[in-house]
Amino acid sequence: MMKLNCQAFSYLIIFLLVSCNPDSQWKGQAPVKAVNTSTVPIQMQQKGIYDLGNGINVSNDFLGARMNGVAMSGDTLVNILITAENEPINMSPWYAFKIWAESQKQIKLKLNYQEPAYHRYYPKLSKNYQDWYLIDSADYSLNYTMIQANEEYDNSTEVPESAVLVLEIDTDTLWVAAQPNLNSNHNAQWVAELDSLPFVRRLEIGKSRRGTVIPALIIGDEKNPKMNVIFSRQHPPEVTGYRAMQTFVEALCDHSDLANSYREGYTTLVIPMINPDGVDLGHWRHNAGGVDLNRDWKAFNQPETSAVRDFLESMSKTNQGTYYFAVDFHSTWEDIFYLASNGSSNLPGLSEQWINQLGNRMEGYEPNIRRMAGADPVTSDRFMFATYHCEALTYEVGDNTPEDFIQKKSQIAAKEWMKLLSAN
Ligand SMILES: [Zn+2]
Repeated sequence: MMKLNCQAFSYLIIFLLVSCNPDSQWKGQAPVKAVNTSTVPIQMQQKGIYDLGNGINVSNDFLGARMNGVAMSGDTLVNILITAENEPINMSPWYAFKIWAESQKQIKLKLNYQEPAYHRYYPKLSKNYQDWYLIDSADYSLNYTMIQANEEYDNSTEVPESAVLVLEIDTDTLWVAAQPNLNSNHNAQWVAELDSLPFVRRLEIGKSRRGTVIPALIIGDEKNPKMNVIFSRQHPPEVTGYRAMQTFVEALCDHSDLANSYREGYTTLVIPMINPDGVDLGHWRHNAGGVDLNRDWKAFNQPETSAVRDFLESMSKTNQGTYYFAVDFHSTWEDIFYLASNGSSNLPGLSEQWINQLGNRMEGYEPNIRRMAGADPVTSDRFMFATYHCEALTYEVGDNTPEDFIQKKSQIAAKEWMKLLSAN
């Protein structure tokens, strides 16, 4: 698909190219298969500030970045290379870097990907690392290439092999990223803010492979045997799902009568960032053990999934408790609900009822509901259903779902969820 020509790079600073087997190109989710989740090596990126000459500097020296190589072609074309942490891997090639110049200038910047990945994420820009906006479509173009029919595509298909951005840069740093950069520091701060509420308690349930704290929140009385569970960010680039999770959890913590009575009925356990290493290293999919954590809920080879499992088990033992509902927030190409539970859960049919009520409350929105394919409980939602017989689903948000829609839908989803659970 993409061939990197060394001669095209006049100032080659890093050149990393690892082979990568084709993985499935399903829109949404491919049938889930059990895979080996033993630890494998990952490719760390070289972090630094790169002086490209001509007064232009690029940096990936911050948490959450992915930028594996940078090189100038001529005076004003900056080539960026994005590679994965290991392979095989899902095609979620996210990126983040910052760029500035000694004097104001217009440059072109090309995003190149490790074969066979292609461009997926619409670029977001920020001047302060907090407020992000979409690049103007007039300053953004895609280079398409034809790939032949193969095991993933029935017909030959056109895919964007690279993207070209036109950027105005100056001495003030410009951040460029596939998604707003909400890393483990952001998560720790968000968790600490919620911890200041009288009915919320923050705790550490374990550490990631690289020693980063995995925080959890207990919302409501921790001795209440009726419990629900919220998960997010097993997959690093899935920021829109993480944003939906934050909005959802904030709604459970507000001061409305509905939220007060929900919290009297149920205690909610939240593990908002299960894969902090993957997030901070800018991984496409995996943790620092090179593993897709959402395939490790049967073998529990990784410290992150084991920590969550042990926490849930200890809460259920201490309280003689029951889990009623588990929601895991992710992102994919579009908004989808994947149902993992069926009519034999301890609240049968509640997922469908909830999603239908959400659809009724939002004019013009038709929820997309799918049953999970594959039977093995290797994912979090099927683990929850198989182990605790609770309602369990994956709440997927589209990569490009606008922030205001994410929030609106998540607020209504939380309200309808609390209403239904409070009535049970
Ligand atoms: Zn995911």
